[in-house]
Amino acid sequence: MRIVRTIHELRDALQSVRTGGSIGAARVGMVPTMGALHEGHLSLVRTARAENDCVVMSIFVNPTQFGEAADLAAYPRQEAQDVELAESAGVDLVFAPSVAEMYPTGFATAVHVSGPLTEVLEGAGRGSAHFDGVATIVSKLLLAVLPDNAYFGQKDAQQLRVVQRMTQDLGIPTRIRSCPTLRDEDGLALSSRNALLSDTERASASRIPSALTAVTAALAAGDISVSRLRAVAEEVLVGGNLDVEYVEIVDPDTFESVKFVERPALCAIAARVGTVRLIDNTLLVPQR
Ligand code: AMP
Repeated sequence: MRIVRTIHELRDALQSVRTGGSIGAARVGMVPTMGALHEGHLSLVRTARAENDCVVMSIFVNPTQFGEAADLAAYPRQEAQDVELAESAGVDLVFAPSVAEMYPTGFATAVHVSGPLTEVLEGAGRGSAHFDGVATIVSKLLLAVLPDNAYFGQKDAQQLRVVQRMTQDLGIPTRIRSCPTLRDEDGLALSSRNALLSDTERASASRIPSALTAVTAALAAGDISVSRLRAVAEEVLVGGNLDVEYVEIVDPDTFESVKFVERPALCAIAARVGTVRLIDNTLLVPQR
């Protein structure tokens, strides 16, 4: 496995993958991450490994998608361990650039996806700059690698949708692959931020997946009213030491609000546990 730090080195390495060896047209898969790798990230790598000849992982804590300086400063960084984990999961090439490599002096371009997709939920909670930061860095990464396939987690469902919209609109020739959320035994979605939780905070955090499970159960019992389903979630969340930012049920494609779950809808939650902000979601599928 190789580690490269500049776009130039990355392009050189990929050039030899694409033209060299016995593989005439090597398929390249990409897994963009911010590091602090866990099994969720590695599950994306395994899917990429199975579907491509060469797997590239980027590790870059993208400053432009963080609203709060303290959140960026606290974000866990562990490159040496990440490199070992990436290699053991089957990554061929790690791209770990500096901030100056991705945002050189004079950088003045942003990719903006407009509409409710970027204005609600995470767009409202983290500020409008968040998805501009995401769309800009993912565009840069995809244009640097030009992978056949790129792998994103449903854990960040709104980000996944923004990336799908952006690649389609810009005509970036990469297939965006959606991968399921990996969870710990207590149901908590794996996240790099979980490392920042104390034991008591973690117990509170596990109410987030419990709330999603309760909503799924209420829907299965026949309740399709969004206001009542949200109340079911809020009742579970209220007992923990959680600062709930939103509980929303939206159309999974447009992220517009719905009143009744008559078609598949996304239930998404964001809450702070102490200083740590966590998000999770589940797809609600009504019975016919
Ligand atoms: P991050 O490093 O948090 O930016 O995440 C990198 C990629 O891993 C994103 O596409 C995430 O959606 C995905 N991811 C994060 N957590 C999980 C998880 N628990 N299960 C599956 N994918 C995940």
